[in-house]
Amino acid sequence: MENATIVDKPSQSSYPSQLKATLSDGKLLGMSTTSVHGGEARQKPNDAITDSICCSSTFTFESTQSILDYIHEKQDREEYGRYGNPNEKVVERKLAAMDVAEDAILYSSGMAAIVGLLMAKLNSGDEIVFFDQCYHRSREFCSKHMARFGVITHQVKTGDFAAMEAAINDRTKMIVSESPTNPHLTVIDLEQFVALGKAHQVETLIDATLATPYNVRPIEYGVDYVWHSATKYMGGHNDLLAGVICGSKEKLEDVRKLRGILGGINSPHNMYLLERGLKTFALRMERHNQNGQRIAEFLERHPRIERVYYPGLKSHPSHSIAKQTMKGFGGLITFLVRDADWKQTAAVIDACKIPRIAPSLGGVESLIEQPLVMSYFDYSPEDRLRFGIYDNMIRMSCGIEDTEDLIADLQQALEV
Ligand SMILES: *Cc1c(COP(=O)(O)O)cnc(C)c1O
Repeated sequence: MENATIVDKPSQSSYPSQLKATLSDGKLLGMSTTSVHGGEARQKPNDAITDSICCSSTFTFESTQSILDYIHEKQDREEYGRYGNPNEKVVERKLAAMDVAEDAILYSSGMAAIVGLLMAKLNSGDEIVFFDQCYHRSREFCSKHMARFGVITHQVKTGDFAAMEAAINDRTKMIVSESPTNPHLTVIDLEQFVALGKAHQVETLIDATLATPYNVRPIEYGVDYVWHSATKYMGGHNDLLAGVICGSKEKLEDVRKLRGILGGINSPHNMYLLERGLKTFALRMERHNQNGQRIAEFLERHPRIERVYYPGLKSHPSHSIAKQTMKGFGGLITFLVRDADWKQTAAVIDACKIPRIAPSLGGVESLIEQPLVMSYFDYSPEDRLRFGIYDNMIRMSCGIEDTEDLIADLQQALEV
């Protein structure tokens, strides 16, 4: 796709000379080249190699005529900070290139992104169907809050395409899934998902936060909207929040307009951090994938571990579809401690010396947590069981530390 080239027509007229040519004659560049150079102007203000942080809440017009030119879309430029800023636009182009999407819209968090998309696309009386293993706040937003605006949410068992099809009716506007899911790491067959959407003329949305464009690019399968919490692997350093929706220019036009009203955009400082974090995206993902695979294999062999959820393991129900569709399986591992109650499970977490105890995932620092305590404490025991959250469950986000160190640390923690 043409937009995965190094420079895809940067839109700031303030950048005087842009490299119009592509290095690749339309051929996709590698992920590391794309994440380093994608979306950036060749020559930047002050001849800097990096994009300077451009702090401006509003942007000036030379004359009344230049306002008129802008309004009639003859002039491509900034207007007012709530509609976007130069730093955010560079990262939007970079993320679109990474996901081989025509367009990408950034928000101030992953949740702001899904709220922005669904508010733009759904009307009172519309229905959406979700696979039930999903980020608990997206479930809460749909079932509690979209419901207040008359949108009906159906949840069906993850991966049960017959149940999803049965839940679709003529009011259905969108089907939604994560892939892989959190925390069970179920991988969705994207071909089947897209085919179901097409057959019923409903739009498709994938939360690909855990996959990242390094491991799978849902747009290539024909998914309409790809959602990422850029807080996780994209930022990658546990130092920022951001979210992005990727898709076609046409489908995202009304979403961008609504974002200008909702206002959940990013500061130039935040975008500087995200752009900087993305430079090492492919390198980091390589290590996350390696740590995830090797630590999952270690845990699966350990006598104190009852079960490991990791799509790179043959024992995972999604292994074959994951192997066919994903380059690697990421850094997130969920596992159950054999015969442990919630306190004995917590003791394993507390005995770890390298992973830090915190929510979130995808950063350079390994993080470890007990879903029961961290995210599902206010759920009833029945609901926890329904969502497959067990007292002896641990979720670990493998960072980029040395594999051997992480394994040795888990080994000692499991002996405590
Ligand atoms: C973190 C996360 C979100 C929410 O993103 P925020 O940036 O925290 O708002 C959504 N989906 C998944 C899978 C996540 O891990």
